[in-house]
Amino acid sequence: MKTAVFPGSFDPLHMGHVDIIKRALPLFDKIIIAQGINTSKQSYFSEIQKHEWLNKAKNLDSKIQLAEYAGLTVDYCKSVASRFIIRGLRTGADFEYEQAIAQANQKLNSEIETVFLVASPQWSFLSSTIIKDIHKHGGDISLFVL
Ligand code: ADP
Repeated sequence: MKTAVFPGSFDPLHMGHVDIIKRALPLFDKIIIAQGINTSKQSYFSEIQKHEWLNKAKNLDSKIQLAEYAGLTVDYCKSVASRFIIRGLRTGADFEYEQAIAQANQKLNSEIETVFLVASPQWSFLSSTIIKDIHKHGGDISLFVL
């Protein structure tokens, strides 16, 4: 059973995330979309709103599960017997940031591999930050979320 964890803040989960999840489906038997709980960071969308989008993503395929976790991603992976962390790469800036995290995680637990999927061109501009900005100014975010 090949289980992968797709960790993130998902504030909100958007079409860029959905694209990564769909493309990861053929690679794994189970994908856990794991919302990291960061007590020092206030989320923009309410838990109810965030869960609506997370649930829609879960309903895309029976291989997808939802979870929340606090603490280190590698510790969470170990607790659910997952050897893979999925991350998406949009830009060179993403790569620099993700490379350091992946290397640190490899030091923390060498049995866990980070698998990178390159963002599809149609969604590579998209970030949760952009969606929050559009929403904050009264814009329509429905194009960008499920
Ligand atoms: P985090 O706070 O951990 O960066 P995010 O919810 O912002 O959480 O993102 C989770 C993962 O999804 C990260 O690997 C991020 O690079 C990836 N991601 C975010 N936006 C996109 C996108 N538009 N296309 C592909 N991957 C993306």
